[in-house]
Amino acid sequence: MRCPFCSAADTKVIDSRLVADGDQVRRRRECLGCSERFTTYETAELMLPRIIKQSGVREPFHEDKLRQGILRAIEKRPVSVERVEHMLSQIKRALIATGEREVASRVVGEEVMRQLKAVDHVAFVRFASVYRSFQDLNEFRAEIERLAEEQGEPAPGVAG
Ligand SMILES: [Zn+2]
Repeated sequence: MRCPFCSAADTKVIDSRLVADGDQVRRRRECLGCSERFTTYETAELMLPRIIKQSGVREPFHEDKLRQGILRAIEKRPVSVERVEHMLSQIKRALIATGEREVASRVVGEEVMRQLKAVDHVAFVRFASVYRSFQDLNEFRAEIERLAEEQGEPAPGVAG
């Protein structure tokens, strides 16, 4: 578990408790590098379905990869680390709730977008623009236009 402040790999757990009906562990950690404290919500990885990539390759669910994607989307946005961890736990819950042993990476992407949309529109658009540019550009355009209408702004141009 890397420190979100300085990326040091060594952190120590200072408090640990079960939450969400026992399917998550909430941990308070302290970084041994910079002494900052942060909270993580961890799920037993075994409960999570494997991810089917677009290429058809199966891989284990990588929480850190997902976290990095979300952190990129919320860069310089008013979204707290706690909020990100909450989103991650929501996404994992949704994946577990599918009851499937394997789910398409698309399902994960859609779930991330659902979470981001409720939290920060700019982050949502950033994530969607990276994610959906490979999927369905028309759907993405429609989404941007919808958002712009909601916010009473003209739709930004979408290249391509
Ligand atoms: Zn640190």
